Amino acid sequence: MGELPSLVYVGLGANLGERQAALRKALAAIDELPSTRVMRVSPLYGSAPVDAGGPDYLNAVAELTTTLAPQALLSALQTIELSAGRERPYRNAPRTLDLDILWFGDRVIDTPTLTVPHPRMAERAFVLRPLADLVPERVDAAVLQAVASQDIHQLEGSGWADAVVGG
Ligand code: AMP
Repeated sequence: MGELPSLVYVGLGANLGERQAALRKALAAIDELPSTRVMRVSPLYGSAPVDAGGPDYLNAVAELTTTLAPQALLSALQTIELSAGRERPYRNAPRTLDLDILWFGDRVIDTPTLTVPHPRMAERAFVLRPLADLVPERVDAAVLQAVASQDIHQLEGSGWADAVVGG
């Protein structure tokens, strides 16, 4: 890909262990990727697990700029997930860290390993609410309304990640 940075939105989730520390560490690790910068981070939300057991999730969305190609960013995010001690014993198992590429610029990607926009984001309040905090003009009100009954609540304002977001 060329040199122009893309504006990328990544969903972060954690529901095991030191959840907020895991999210902060993930943000710091993303910010350290080559030619990648975490620009803004949404408020922090808590949500009940969907189709899964275990403790509540912490969720947030980060806005990045990167010149990495989509597959390279996906690989890097998977490495960060693994270093957080993530195991995948079964589908939707509780996890210490989950990183999803929601939007990658305005690209549409459909490969066996990467689908962008993220295929399930429109069903998930824990993605849409923090995304709407960052880019309200890009999240359709009707889509937000459709997930309004989901159990999710804001825990902290966007300052929760200030220490790790490079200014
Ligand atoms: P999950 O266990 O829900 O985190 O799913 C991880 C799998 O989803 C990986 O094998 C990825 O290759 C695949 N995947 C497809 N699209 C995306 C995306 N937009 N962001 C992250 N992972 C994705």
